[in-house]
Amino acid sequence: MDFVGGIRRAGVPVGLALGVAVLGWAGLRLRADAQDSTASAAAALAAGGGAEEAQVDKLDKVELTDAQWRERLTPQQYRILRGKGTEPAFSGKYYDHKEEGTYVCAGCANPLFSSETKFRSGTGWPSFYAPVDPKRVRTQPDKGLFTTRTEVLCARCGGHLGHVFEDGPQPTGLRYCINSVALKFVGEDEASAARPEDAQPE
Ligand SMILES: [Zn+2]
Repeated sequence: MDFVGGIRRAGVPVGLALGVAVLGWAGLRLRADAQDSTASAAAALAAGGGAEEAQVDKLDKVELTDAQWRERLTPQQYRILRGKGTEPAFSGKYYDHKEEGTYVCAGCANPLFSSETKFRSGTGWPSFYAPVDPKRVRTQPDKGLFTTRTEVLCARCGGHLGHVFEDGPQPTGLRYCINSVALKFVGEDEASAARPEDAQPE
């Protein structure tokens, strides 16, 4: 008569399991907040592309009032970064710039593009096939009268950088067409000088 014994008693272990599960959930509530590292993200930014990915996530957004932006930026930078303007082709200082280093946001020093991904597009604007890290920029549709382009913005301060098109070189096939005015170049020597501990010859 005990051929269904295994099933008949199933209720007990299930009840125990539920109890354990409830205790488990209670335990989860005790999980401590992750330690907030206040290590200088700004220093990492100034140093260029060496920032850890975790620091990108922790990167504080830069949110300033319009008046503060006007104070911080030159009129030309304000027109591009905050007013979504476009500098005339071949007018910027970086479209034919070939030094090795990192191009950071002129508004907040967020490292955006490396000279390693810069290519000659012939458009008259500095062009890159990839950002330093996808998290450093964000994109959104820019609906014009006849076409929709993809706007590229600084992920840290929301400043307008330029547009990205799908006619770039490999390996990405993308062309980040960026205003020189929105960028500030930090040369390799400059970056090393900012990190004396890393400045030793290899
Ligand atoms: Zn920025």
